[in-house]
Amino acid sequence: MEKILTEEQLNRFTDLVDKAKNVVICGHVSPDGDAIGSALALKLWLTGKGKQVTVVVPNIFPDFLHWMPEAQDIKVYLKHEQEVEPIVAEADLFLIADLNDSSRLQELEACVLANPAPKIMIDHHLNPTDFCQLVISRPDMCATAEVLCHLLYQLGELEQISIEVATCLYTAMMCDTGAFTYNSNRAVVYECISHLLNRGIDKDKIYRNVYWTYSHARMQLTGYLLYVKLEVLPDLHASIITLTNKERKMFGAKNGDTEGIVNMPLQIYGMRLSVFLSEDTEHAGVVKVSLRSVDDFPCNDMSAQFFNGGGHKNASGGKLYCSMDEAVQKVREAIKSYAHLLK
Ligand code: 5GP
Ligand code: MN
Repeated sequence: MEKILTEEQLNRFTDLVDKAKNVVICGHVSPDGDAIGSALALKLWLTGKGKQVTVVVPNIFPDFLHWMPEAQDIKVYLKHEQEVEPIVAEADLFLIADLNDSSRLQELEACVLANPAPKIMIDHHLNPTDFCQLVISRPDMCATAEVLCHLLYQLGELEQISIEVATCLYTAMMCDTGAFTYNSNRAVVYECISHLLNRGIDKDKIYRNVYWTYSHARMQLTGYLLYVKLEVLPDLHASIITLTNKERKMFGAKNGDTEGIVNMPLQIYGMRLSVFLSEDTEHAGVVKVSLRSVDDFPCNDMSAQFFNGGGHKNASGGKLYCSMDEAVQKVREAIKSYAHLLK
């Protein structure tokens, strides 16, 4: 395990946490397993220290994370602005988990930035921006939850965390590595897991809780997307899947039902890049772009250059403000311009 903070940072951290009474923990828009798991682990840990803690996220999170400890108390900003704004306004410390730029808070950004209380970023995305008083950023780590494991280790608390905290941390690391199938070659990841297992987590059950939760409708939607909507560009080792809101309705698709679809075409032999386009269910005229790749193909560069986004080398995302047809054209253009890395 690693001591990730300098002595000075460690003092800053403990000082800020000791002084705080009302803590708000924020995760990014369209929160994933790492955002929710890291935020809940922090909440449970700080509640144990007698703090008043609320987890606030910009919009809804997937159903397959609802089983997590304390998930039912997460405050969703979108459509509950009146309830959430006073909570954010009264915070005397913010923990910003799993995001590197305040714009990733989307609608929640303005009200968080309006409160001058100190902010601590704990994250693993490249290029953190400067809006927090203390930045704990480790892009080399597989998940924000891994950063938290090291932090708890440095604080001498990793051996004492509750099974609930350990469960949240494991879930988060599992989700950000596709159940340890990518971005998970560092041996220390398994040292972290070993510590979490020692706290009594049931990792097999956690796996089933997250991944074996399909409804019949979701299974059918998956089949439809792979059989009807998957376009493979064999020469370019790339693929495109599109999903409109009309199709979502047709299958009665729920929030989170398309999670993981973008990874599937990479199971085709030789495939290097997978693109998934889906109409935003909350903002008309917006198409969400998800990119996944293997080896050295830089999804984040492609996302920044063509899709107003960013992310990690093998997993990135962005947005296009146009129709689905126009979005597909843009993707073709992007793939063409990266053909030299795909052929
Ligand atoms: P997903 O495909 O799961 O939505 O996103 C994968 C990763 O891409 C996220 O973990 C995040 O790092 C990044 N990402 C997704 N959407 C955006 C976006 O709109 N802007 C930026 N900068 N990064 C994004
Ligand atoms: Mn993450």
